[in-house]
Amino acid sequence: MSGRVSVPLSAFVRITLALLACCLFFVGSAALAAPSLVLDAPESVARGDAFPALAVSDTPTKVFIFRWLGKTYEARAEQVTASTAAGAAARWQAVMLLPVPLEEKEAARDLAVSLGGGKDAPLTARRIALFDKDRPVQKLNVDKKYVDPPAEVMARIKADRELVHRALAQSLPERLWVLPLVRPVPGDVSSLYGLKRIFNGQPRGVHKGLDLRGPQGQPVLACADGQVALTGNLYFSGNVVYINHGEGVFTAYLHLSEILVQNGDRVRQGQVVGLVGATGRVTGPHLHLSLLVQGESVDPQPFLTTGNAAKEKNP
Ligand SMILES: [Zn+2]
Repeated sequence: MSGRVSVPLSAFVRITLALLACCLFFVGSAALAAPSLVLDAPESVARGDAFPALAVSDTPTKVFIFRWLGKTYEARAEQVTASTAAGAAARWQAVMLLPVPLEEKEAARDLAVSLGGGKDAPLTARRIALFDKDRPVQKLNVDKKYVDPPAEVMARIKADRELVHRALAQSLPERLWVLPLVRPVPGDVSSLYGLKRIFNGQPRGVHKGLDLRGPQGQPVLACADGQVALTGNLYFSGNVVYINHGEGVFTAYLHLSEILVQNGDRVRQGQVVGLVGATGRVTGPHLHLSLLVQGESVDPQPFLTTGNAAKEKNP
């Protein structure tokens, strides 16, 4: 683990990191007579959150196939060394980030994983309970043109959506993300993910991102290593940077005053990719951070290192 992991984390992420660390021991101490495939994931996940699923096998494999909400996701296997009662042994493992859409209706869903070796490959499954977090209503006042966009910008809004859609379709089979994600600005949260929003008295859907406080011009850091998938100026989002972190995970940084990277650039975790601003549909300067997992916009907060507020409370 890197030094960054020592910052206080949410209980959920702490448990996840602990799972990553102890799963190998668990596999190592299990009976080795039959090939084993162990799957670790939280017992319950909130709608609107993502969760890491960890697969570990003692059978050599190039990939693991995760099945979740009717879709399959392939994760590259990594070979590691586990200590067992019989000494050091080779293991293959992969971690995959998977989403629970806010709109998901079922009370529980099955997660399954198999080795990428055809239909005879061992398969392991577990049931994950789903629940709702409290999602309050937030009233905001913004420029009228962002609530009822003039007819002439409708084509632009459609083109913006298409650009984002194409950027999120870019595949990067290599996993560049690690948990926790670096907090892009030190400021605390000003608007939670999942708030039901009313703009100028009119309901306008759900806030699918996390707003972090930050003064105009403050550097915005990349949450993890990745490749820039989109930069530009969008009608609602203002100046944006989208970063592809591999295996279906993207982060997006909205309302920037300046963009400091270019499409296709490789970026490192903690690199400055832009500056906080107030471009697009905003009430003032802040950073809107989106976390996109397998095409779903999920709550970034459980995965972020803590900011100013937490440090002040726990000196
Ligand atoms: Zn926002």
